[in-house]
Amino acid sequence: MRLFVAVDPSDEVRAALGRAIEAGRVFAPDAKWQREEAIHLTLAFLGNVPDEREPAIEAALRQVAGRHAPLALRVGEVGSFGSLHRPRVLWVGLDGALAGLTALKEDVEAALAPLGYVPEERAFRPHLTLARAREPRGDARLAEARAGLGRSFSAGPAADFTAGDLILYQSHLSPHGAKYTPRARLPLAG
Ligand code: ATP
Ligand code: MG
Repeated sequence: MRLFVAVDPSDEVRAALGRAIEAGRVFAPDAKWQREEAIHLTLAFLGNVPDEREPAIEAALRQVAGRHAPLALRVGEVGSFGSLHRPRVLWVGLDGALAGLTALKEDVEAALAPLGYVPEERAFRPHLTLARAREPRGDARLAEARAGLGRSFSAGPAADFTAGDLILYQSHLSPHGAKYTPRARLPLAG
């Protein structure tokens, strides 16, 4: 099964980002826009894992979650990955308890390494993906969407949220977009 570890925004933030997605779609109709209910913050992507390893992964994540407190986060600036003029990914960044979030991510990676997880080498850039270009070379219209959505969500009424759970998700890929199913929600109880 294809697994990853994430935290979720609140329903209020999800709804605000859902409205941003509908607004952004007008600027870049060909991009793959995230479904509102699928918005998440990825901490570790495991990829394909043998089914029988899932209980050990869940147990390791439960231990990690027990050592970390809930995280007070805030959605912030709109940004992109890839070329500035032809972005590959359009996202909303995060502010707030980023040190705690990074510590959680590193603890997750350390706990999963003995279970086959290969730690990410790229710098951690916590973000909530709103859209991806359909082509690997990017989508100029995502730059227009970035400008059209404005610089920041942090002034909005629904910017703050508390991440209270570490979530083990299964990803089902399909031509209609990935579907994510929570396998386990592990309370941040530290
Ligand atoms: P699709 O691949 O169909 O565009 P997706 O990327 O949302 O959909 P997955 O590829 O299963 O679905 O990825 C699940 C989550 O893990 C997403 O947040 C994705 O950005 C992240 N992810 C996927 N591959 C990697 C990777 N190699 N390194 C880091 N994160 C990854
Ligand atoms: Mg992917």
